Amino acid sequence: MSQRRRRIFNAVLFAFSGALAAFGVYLIYLHLNASFYDLLLDLVSGIRNQRLFYAILLLIFAIYPALAFSRSKPVKERKTVAVVSCYGCDYREVRDFQKGDYVFKKLGGCSACDSEQYISAIYSIPISRVEEKEEAL
Ligand SMILES: [Zn+2]
Repeated sequence: MSQRRRRIFNAVLFAFSGALAAFGVYLIYLHLNASFYDLLLDLVSGIRNQRLFYAILLLIFAIYPALAFSRSKPVKERKTVAVVSCYGCDYREVRDFQKGDYVFKKLGGCSACDSEQYISAIYSIPISRVEEKEEAL
């Protein structure tokens, strides 16, 4: 799912939850401010308790997505990259980390000048950011 789609999905879910919650609160309001007719009806049907039950059910349904979303924040996958620099020029390349890489490891002659290339940094970045970068390019 693309980020934009996810944002729309979240917005729809948020609106839906909000509507459910509002309706639930309204039902509770009706429960607390029952009209005489409701109370009379309640003697026969027990409809007030039923309404309260639905109200609580609605509130649970409204809150559940929020809980589910906050809990299941996907663990962002990361990848390790190494920055290749050159002592002689300002050559700079970010490539995937390779086994045996370490900072200041010498990599041999530069293709642009005759100085030596070395690894100047190793770090990890979230893969989503890599994808974004690739999309931007
Ligand atoms: Zn160079």
